[in-house]
Amino acid sequence: MKVLKFGGTSVANANNINLVKNIIANQQSENTIVVVSALGGITDLLLKSAALACTQDNAYKSALKEIEDRHLSTIKELIPIHSQSKMLSKVKTELNTLETLLEGAFLIGEITPKLSDKIVSYGELLSSYIISEHFIAEGIDAAYIDSRKLIKTNLAHGKTTVNFQLTNSNCVSILKNHDNKVLVMGGFIASSVSGDATTLGRGGSDYTAAIVANALDAELLQVWTDVSGMYTANPKIVKQARSIPHISYEEAMELSHFGAKVLYPPTIQPVLSKGIPIQIKNTFKPEEPGTLISKNKNGTGKTVRGISHVEEVALLSLEGSGMVGIPGISKRFFEVLSNAGISVVLITQASSEHSICVGISNQDTEKAVAIVNEAFDFEISRGRIKPVIAEKDLAIIALVGDNMKSHQGLSGKMFSTLGKNNVNIRAIAQGASERNISAVILKSDVKKALNSLHEVFFEENIKQLNLFVMGVGNVGAKFIAQIQQQKQYLKEKLMLNIRVIGMSNSRTMYFDEDGIPLKNWEALLASGPKADKARFYDTVMKLNYRNSIFVDNTASEEVSSTYPNYLKNSISVVTCNKIACSSQFSHYQELKDLARKYNAPFLFETNVGAGLPIIDTLKHLIASGDKVLKIQAVLSGSLNFVFNNFNDHTTFHDIVKKAQEEGYTEPDPKIDLSGIDVMRKILILARESGNILEIEDIENQSFLPQESLETTNNEDFFRTLKEHEESFQALYQQAVEEDSKLKYVAQFEDGKASVGLQRIPKGHDFYNLEGSDNIVLFYTERYPNQPMIIKGAGAGADVTASGIFADIIRIGNF
Ligand code: ADP
Ligand code: ASP
Ligand code: MG
Repeated sequence: MKVLKFGGTSVANANNINLVKNIIANQQSENTIVVVSALGGITDLLLKSAALACTQDNAYKSALKEIEDRHLSTIKELIPIHSQSKMLSKVKTELNTLETLLEGAFLIGEITPKLSDKIVSYGELLSSYIISEHFIAEGIDAAYIDSRKLIKTNLAHGKTTVNFQLTNSNCVSILKNHDNKVLVMGGFIASSVSGDATTLGRGGSDYTAAIVANALDAELLQVWTDVSGMYTANPKIVKQARSIPHISYEEAMELSHFGAKVLYPPTIQPVLSKGIPIQIKNTFKPEEPGTLISKNKNGTGKTVRGISHVEEVALLSLEGSGMVGIPGISKRFFEVLSNAGISVVLITQASSEHSICVGISNQDTEKAVAIVNEAFDFEISRGRIKPVIAEKDLAIIALVGDNMKSHQGLSGKMFSTLGKNNVNIRAIAQGASERNISAVILKSDVKKALNSLHEVFFEENIKQLNLFVMGVGNVGAKFIAQIQQQKQYLKEKLMLNIRVIGMSNSRTMYFDEDGIPLKNWEALLASGPKADKARFYDTVMKLNYRNSIFVDNTASEEVSSTYPNYLKNSISVVTCNKIACSSQFSHYQELKDLARKYNAPFLFETNVGAGLPIIDTLKHLIASGDKVLKIQAVLSGSLNFVFNNFNDHTTFHDIVKKAQEEGYTEPDPKIDLSGIDVMRKILILARESGNILEIEDIENQSFLPQESLETTNNEDFFRTLKEHEESFQALYQQAVEEDSKLKYVAQFEDGKASVGLQRIPKGHDFYNLEGSDNIVLFYTERYPNQPMIIKGAGAGADVTASGIFADIIRIGNF
């Protein structure tokens, strides 16, 4: 004998009920008890109509109408026309009684728990009747059983307990009186010893099935639902969650107790005592294996088996010096809560006995505060205990697994993962069984917390990085193209799943919670709302994703001023924008400090030498104890391009124009030509080598005429270049005469930095520098005479984008 339970979604409509019938028809060789829920959503509608009626709101009638329509249309679709009328009239009679009950509640403007139970029981009464008739009509040897005659409860409406003695003997005798292969009954509903309708609590149909399985010594209890088993986390919140093939009773109980709704928590007890296995199966994918819950411990399985969570939790803290060493305070605290019917879901106590902290349901908060304060009125009035503190809108997340106790470091991993993602932990509890480690966090952090924990404990180290990209011009567009191209490779080889969740240019912005499809990002971005930096930031905050990275591909000061906000929320920042790192030293230092404090990398490799690994190399030198003595470098790809191409056959103006058109200069070419850009770069290298320096401390021997330096727009700037062609030609001639080449050199030595145009003689490391290449010579204590040299393309959108990409990957491996 088997007991099969089908939940609300499985019997929500005629179509689904037909699937259920097929499942039963395939099992017909065995005796089967089928326990069904109300048609999906009907219990909620019944409760809603009752709530409306008792507030004397006429809208209860439309809820009732919806209930009626759902049942009548299910019958019409499911049952052959010739058998319909008998059923329709029976169901209508029942619905009339329901209407009378609701009318009563409406007239009095009140509803008792007893009446509420009666009203809500109509859901399962009707569903079980309809389904049993459908089975019979389809030729299954089935009969209907009235659950209220079977399942008996000790009276206490709302929170009933099952009278197992009566229930078990009822089950045995009913079975004796039926020789049908299939018996269909409603879950959830029962009656008291004196005959009143009672219920087993929301989700209670699972429990009904377990009670019957226990009474009849069933060999198996199958719970058929809308997912393929008990998952590693709630599949609605964690997309990567997967069905757990095999789990112990204790683990399943712990997971369901902490919110895995797929199984109503009391369900396990009755089957556990008889060792009856539970199988959780998917009505819509019956071929999938689902989850088997049984006695077998999963000795070799994963240590952490699942992560569950309960929302709507509040924390109550009682503290005060008067609690230390006084016996009975905890007892009184728990007693008042228990007497008021408030259940405690989590307990922590400081070892100093200075405070006790418990988790309760959000909705009980006000009541709990009032009764606890009243109970400790005497101590509070004398200042020995503080009035109880309540914090609402929290949630509990729990890691569950039988083998967790024999593994070290799990809680460390749990809390560091939460910490890295800026999830604030309000309280911690670890059950004595060590089968569960729970943390109380803000409700608004649940999605992020579950997903980051799931990633760390279940996803074979695949790490998801969520990018928010500002600036998709030259560099940004190349960056997006590179992500698109490398996505699969990174996933397979580096276990990194990179998703672009948000992007913005100066016109519009666009977000997609599941990752923007990069194939047509241009069209999507153009379709988005107007760009707004504050709203962009707000959206990043609201989405609250784990491993979030803000990527700045702009040259905007306004954008760079938002970095602290991101870092303070543990969101990493990657930027090719030099403004922040070359601003006031105190600001640069603040960003570094924030990054350290909030565990969020702040990376800007592309600030110097585009994609060349200059800053990263420097960091490694310093970290390994080396000391920088001197830096000599050609750091402007654009100036290098200009002076490598400028000669007496060209004009300076045309070469600068060309450099701008080919994307080698900043949008404003004066920033490059005036030396500002190189100053910023040497400043950043000096700072990264451990020196405190401001941009004003750098000597700049500009080669530009004063008039060019004073222009305020690109047009005027280019005009002055034309006008001063002669002076540029003079620079060139002088270099030719000395058999040297013009290079714009940055230097740092003895705490002093300078930039300027130099004539580089043949044989010097800089002499053969081509195109837009950069070169850096690091003279250090380890490389005192022969410097460490880094050389290569130092400008251009493609290499800059790849440098940003490299920073993202550094964060992925962080
Ligand atoms: P039924 O009506 O069949 O009893 P429920 O809605 O009560 O179904 O339970 C199934 C739902 O439980 C799933 O659709 C899923 O959203 C939710 N759920 C929460 N946590 C888990 C989990 N860890 N594994 C599977 N389902 C879960
Ligand atoms: N129909 C009831 C509910 O929705 C019982 C159940 O489905 O398990 O809570
Ligand atoms: Mg359920």
